[in-house]
Amino acid sequence: MDEKGLPEEKVLELLAEFQRRDMTYTSGRILGSMCTSSHPLARRVYCDFLESNLGDPGLFRGTRELESGVIGMLGELLSEPDAAGHIITGGTEANLMAMRAARNMAGAEKPEIIVPKSAHFSFRKAADILGLRLREAELDQDYRVDVESVRKLISENTVAVVGVAGTTELGRIDPVEELSEICLDEDIHLHIDAAFGGFIIPFLRETGAELPEFDFKLQGVSSITVDPHKMGLAPIPSGCILFRDASYLDAMSIETPYLTEKQQSTIVGTRTGASAAATWAIMKHMGREGYRKLALRVMGVTRRLRDGLVELDYQLVVEPELNIVAFNHPAMGPHELADRLEELGWAVSVSSCPPAIRVVLMPHIMEEHIELLLRDLEGIRLREE
Ligand code: PLP
Repeated sequence: MDEKGLPEEKVLELLAEFQRRDMTYTSGRILGSMCTSSHPLARRVYCDFLESNLGDPGLFRGTRELESGVIGMLGELLSEPDAAGHIITGGTEANLMAMRAARNMAGAEKPEIIVPKSAHFSFRKAADILGLRLREAELDQDYRVDVESVRKLISENTVAVVGVAGTTELGRIDPVEELSEICLDEDIHLHIDAAFGGFIIPFLRETGAELPEFDFKLQGVSSITVDPHKMGLAPIPSGCILFRDASYLDAMSIETPYLTEKQQSTIVGTRTGASAAATWAIMKHMGREGYRKLALRVMGVTRRLRDGLVELDYQLVVEPELNIVAFNHPAMGPHELADRLEELGWAVSVSSCPPAIRVVLMPHIMEEHIELLLRDLEGIRLREE
């Protein structure tokens, strides 16, 4: 740190320089992220609540009520209005909390968790932090978890089974109904990672899309991750962990002698109330109708990309169920194709299972961006011939 401070103007000037090097969602060039531009209302509210600390909720009673309001709205959306939970930093922390609750409730000596091979890497972090053995279940030919493989991995040490509703790489929805039956029979915690899917699957279902059940309506489901900062249009960081009831939170509560609450179940202490307030604001503003419209719009853009790729003879990995399209060039590897696209100014991501270019059609990607992308993909095909 310098001895003498700089004038505010100078600091802002320096910051602008740094910010110019960042990509922006509004450019439509960020194709592989699950985050997006937050809604202007949510941004405003976020700034208004910057100082509120949900780690000491007795001081911020209003914000605490907003957090409960969000948990109530999300619980209702996911079929359990009495669900308990918290607004936290994102899917990673939510998955970590779910695994911690499951481990503490089960009390196994050598705890293990079973996750699909398609699960997000946050479960590796959770396993490492919590001392859990991670067992990976195989996928079927449609890249959903193979239920028989899960069944075979269950042992007396299994403390949780994980299903994914909207996989990170392909947007697949695991057969949660079957997982729920297994977990009910075996009395095992079933956690559903709907970090991505939680803010789109229910709304697509409401418009008549034939997508499977994945939420608390299925009695075996004990907890759900859902991220407002993905398809919910809330600012980063806004994640949510929901449990079927408060006993799961009690299973990991720690005494907090000097604070206004006497017990705390979250991993972090001081935590942002701004995320809860901004999420509350955007959910109230959008309503179910607003999210349904958004879901239909992004699926329209998804279909345009899908159809354009097929016309250009690119190979789809699977038919998209949600707003993610993964594809390959018939002759060129995905990393080489990614390099070509990056040279043309696109920020793409390459999936690992299977290797493919993966485009997440987040709300910041409009039809006109897809037309430009398809033109570039056509150019790449023509240069090959
Ligand atoms: N779970 C799923 C299915 C995800 O796709 C992601 C991130 O993309 C996460 C968890 C982790 O979320 P975060 O990056 O907000 O911690």
